[in-house]
Amino acid sequence: MTEEEIPNVVVAVRLRPFTTQEVVEGHHCCCRVVGDQTVVIHKEPGASRHLKTQQGSSNEYGYDMVFSDKATQDEVYSRTVKNIIPTILDGYNATIFAYGATGAGKTHTMMGSERDGSSMDELIDPEYEDGSPRALPVDGIIPQSLSDIFRLIHERQVDEKVLQETEGLASNWTVTVSYLEVYNETIRDLLNPQAKNLQLREHSTKGAVHVSNLKHVVVKNAVEVLQLLRQGNRNRQTKSTAANQVSSRSHAVLQVTIKHTASSLLLKNSPNKEITNGKLSLIDLAGSERASNTQNSGARLTEGANINKSLLALANCINALSTANQNVIRRRSDSMVGIKEPRPFPTRAKFRDSKLTHLLKSSLEGDCRLVMIANINPSHKSFEESHNTLKYANRAKNI
Ligand code: ADP
Ligand code: MG
Repeated sequence: MTEEEIPNVVVAVRLRPFTTQEVVEGHHCCCRVVGDQTVVIHKEPGASRHLKTQQGSSNEYGYDMVFSDKATQDEVYSRTVKNIIPTILDGYNATIFAYGATGAGKTHTMMGSERDGSSMDELIDPEYEDGSPRALPVDGIIPQSLSDIFRLIHERQVDEKVLQETEGLASNWTVTVSYLEVYNETIRDLLNPQAKNLQLREHSTKGAVHVSNLKHVVVKNAVEVLQLLRQGNRNRQTKSTAANQVSSRSHAVLQVTIKHTASSLLLKNSPNKEITNGKLSLIDLAGSERASNTQNSGARLTEGANINKSLLALANCINALSTANQNVIRRRSDSMVGIKEPRPFPTRAKFRDSKLTHLLKSSLEGDCRLVMIANINPSHKSFEESHNTLKYANRAKNI
C-alpha cells in the first residue's frame, strides 16, 4: 500500500508476544500472521503444524494491516498514525482506537513503555535550545503522536515567521486536551473527578457535540500532556483497588484539539480569526471480553451490556464511515460524475446509540480519518476472546 492509497478507515490487527510467565507456563500459539493482511486462528493447540488434518478448526480473516508479535512500537505508529498527524494541523478530525480483551495489549499499543535507559522524570526541559521539542522517552501511539504534533507545530511556526514579517499577520497555535472515561454509559472527567453532571450536548444547527462541564487544559508541550494523563489515570484507579479492573470496564478518551488562528499586526485589537481547528481522539477501549461474558450477573451484567452496546454502535459507525468514503473514492475516479458531486451521507450510522459514538460524532462522519488497532493475545488460552476480536475487527470494515 502506498501513502496515497491509505484509506480513511484503517482496521489493523496486532498480535502481542508471550509474556515470560506465559512462556514458563508453556502456552501454545493459536494465531498466525500470513503475509501483511491475514490472520489464521486455530482452535486446537498446535493445529498450525497439522493444517491438512485440522482444516475444519482453522479460520482466516483479512484486514488492512496485520502486525505480528515482532512488530515494534515505531513500526506500528509509522504505518498507522504518523501520516494522519499533519491532517489534524490542517483542521481535520481523526480517531485512533485500541480494541481487544483485557491483557491483549491495548494500553501497551496506546501508551507503551519507557524507552531503554530513559525516564519521564528525567525530562525536565521539554525543549532544545532552539525551541524545538524533544522526543518523549515513551514509545506508544499517544506519546509519539504528541511528539509529532508539537514538532510539526514548531516547524510550521518557523515557516510562518516569514509570513508574519511580510504580511503583518500574527499566527497562533493553541493545543488543548481533555481526558475522560465512559463507564456504564456515564462520563467521568479524569482531569476533574469532582465534576458532576457531565452531559453530551449537541449544537442544534451545527450538530457539533460537546461535553458540558468538562475540563479543557491548554498545553504547551507533550510532557505536560503526559503529566495530565498520569494524573488522570490516578483518578481512574480511586474507585477500585485493582487498576486493571477499572480500566477494563471503561473507555478512556484523550482528546487533543489543535487550533490555528491569525490576527493582524497592523490593526489595533485585530480579531483572532480561526484558520483551522482539528481534533485527535485517542481511545483505550474497555476490555471486549466484558461484552461477551455470559457468566456475569447483577452490576457486572449491566456493565457488560453497556460495553457491548457501545462496541456494537462503534462497529456500525466505522462501517458507515468506510462505506461512505469508498463511494467518494469511486465517484472521484468517475469522470462522468465529476468531483463536485455531494458526498453521500452514511444513513446507517446511529451515533446516539451509545455515549462513546455520540461523543465522537464529529470524528466519525465526513472527511475524518479513523484507525482501529485490534489487539490479540495469541495464547491458546485466549482462543475465544481472540476469535471474537478477529471477527469484530473484520466486520467493522466489511459490509
Ligand atoms: P490491555 O491494556 O489490553 O489490558 P496491556 O497493554 O496491559 O493489555 O498488555 C498486557 C501485558 O502484555 C503487559 O504486561 C504489556 O506490557 C505486555 N505487552 C502487550 N503488548 C506487548 C508488545 N507488543 N510487546 C511486549 N509486551 C507487550
Ligand atoms: Mg489496559
